[in-house]
Amino acid sequence: MKIFNSYTNQIEEFISIHPRKVNMYVCGPTVYNYIHIGNARPVVFFDTVRRYLESLGYDVKFVSNFTDVDDKIIQKAIEENETELVISQKYINAFLDDLNALNCNTDYLQPKVTEYMKQIIEFIEDLIKNDFAYDVDGDVYFRVDKIKDYGKLSNRNIDDLISGSRVDINPKKESPLDFTLWKKTEVGINFDSPFSNGRPGWHTECVSMIDNIFHEQIDIHGGGMDLQFPHHENEIAQSKALHNHSLARYWMHNGRLSFKDEKMSKSLGNVVFVKDITDKMPLRYFLLSTHYRSPLNYDEESFSMYVKEWQKLEMAVKSLFLKLDLEKQYNDLIEIASPEILKEIDNFNLAMSDDFNTANAITSIQSLIKTINQSLRQKTNYNHLNQQLKAIMYMANILGLKIQLIPMNSEDRNLYEQWQSARSSKNFSLADELRLKLSQRGII
Ligand SMILES: [Zn+2]
Repeated sequence: MKIFNSYTNQIEEFISIHPRKVNMYVCGPTVYNYIHIGNARPVVFFDTVRRYLESLGYDVKFVSNFTDVDDKIIQKAIEENETELVISQKYINAFLDDLNALNCNTDYLQPKVTEYMKQIIEFIEDLIKNDFAYDVDGDVYFRVDKIKDYGKLSNRNIDDLISGSRVDINPKKESPLDFTLWKKTEVGINFDSPFSNGRPGWHTECVSMIDNIFHEQIDIHGGGMDLQFPHHENEIAQSKALHNHSLARYWMHNGRLSFKDEKMSKSLGNVVFVKDITDKMPLRYFLLSTHYRSPLNYDEESFSMYVKEWQKLEMAVKSLFLKLDLEKQYNDLIEIASPEILKEIDNFNLAMSDDFNTANAITSIQSLIKTINQSLRQKTNYNHLNQQLKAIMYMANILGLKIQLIPMNSEDRNLYEQWQSARSSKNFSLADELRLKLSQRGII
């Protein structure tokens, strides 16, 4: 399997640090608002990475944090006259609802910054002890010029960075590039520390949580492309300072999602929240339809095409299952032996092993759907139909595309027969009514 490693800027063969085990960390949300569909892109993509790695037999330890200490949360708490804890819990719950609706696994370690404060403070103390950080009147900064290849991940040059940062010189810093590890403050939620009452900087939160949870270099660190600099660059700098490694062996970054070719942002008023999209599976399908490193553009018109495409796909699979279920021929234990179907699965796996090319993987799904639709029109070979169903469910499951196949009970069968006879006697209003009932039960 090959992965594009942002750190080395090249496609590399994936070799896990420990055999059959993958440790991965993805930067999670700052919980002060609902997530928009741009935020959902890494969430859905890295959930898919985990699913595919697990399908290959890896035991994946997946960790993604909640940033629940942040200026934006404090601001929101002031605006809504609430505590930071109430605000962050509200949006953590909303985030988990969105994850469930997007069929993302939620059963993973979700550390909160507030729960790791002791470890974060110790991590900063270690950096000071090793001379990589300094305390000025209760503010602690990281000494960037002690890190030789600072800028490697984001392909930035130190001199350019310095000249670019001249405008905003903080007299407390030794160098304009030095970043905050601890900020002394009495505004909003703050914590007692040997430096001052204050709170940690975002860049030190993720790296110290990784350090405390994994205790070693991890396999994969993921996040959006916009986190490469300064967030991930600064995580790497701290890891190099204390452990002399780049924190993760593979750094993976997904491209940006734009809205009608503009950045999705609140100031532009073009934010689409995940919670406001009715069709969550088509959204997942849309987010995976483009390779994760490419930019993705959202607008209502093109999204509605994905919704239609998804409905066709779902209908084909449900019709296939319905046919087998009606004839009591559904067989989950069937072995896939047909060379054409095995070829489709091969193509799917090849695409996924090629730096998680979900766009090509979806092409395999569409091709199999075409075959399914053809076989549904032809003379029935149950064995073949069962193999097709098994193959399409395998692919859908790896991409996390949920298609519910509900076996009919006797009541459903009754409704189904009534529907068929209403159709053949051209009683369309009754047929529509029965059709709606069957669709509400998830049968068709
Ligand atoms: Zn992070």
